[in-house]
Amino acid sequence: MNFDAYAHRAVDLVNAPLGDLDDLRRLLGEEWMRDEATERDVAVFRRAQKRLREIFQLGTAQHDADAVAALNALLEAHPVQPRISGHDAADWHMHVASRGSSVSAEYLAGAVWGLAVWLCEYGSARFGVCADERCGNVYLDTSSNCCRRFCSERCATRSHVAAHRARKRAADALTPVG
Ligand SMILES: [Zn+2]
Ligand SMILES: [Zn+2]
Repeated sequence: MNFDAYAHRAVDLVNAPLGDLDDLRRLLGEEWMRDEATERDVAVFRRAQKRLREIFQLGTAQHDADAVAALNALLEAHPVQPRISGHDAADWHMHVASRGSSVSAEYLAGAVWGLAVWLCEYGSARFGVCADERCGNVYLDTSSNCCRRFCSERCATRSHVAAHRARKRAADALTPVG
């Protein structure tokens, strides 16, 4: 199983708007999930979103043991039960929740499990929250020196431009006029 892809489900969930069912449908991958998602799932996803964000915050703040405890609690709440599934006959693939499970059970079991394996592999210090406060997106830091600070190039560039302008304003203020 590709645990990395499952871990990124957790990232996608934390960063997704979840205002209503349409927002949730945009997040979901497989067609059956989009079709079967309900208002009840929206509530479950919102709760999981909050708890997953806390885990990224704990990781980025170096509270490793707390991040592990929080993830273990989520693993208990969203158990994995692997199963071969096919939505049409020639399409066997793995599902991670038991037959007849809700969309939230299937999505969250995979997301939580993937993030847990990711933590064991790379450490919770590589859970990141974007340094741009207006953004707040989370990410998994795969940089070679564990130094990534932003969720995306876009946020990094915006922040560097803003810092440059601030330095220039400060320098201008020190220059005597006339
Ligand atoms: Zn499927
Ligand atoms: Zn960002």
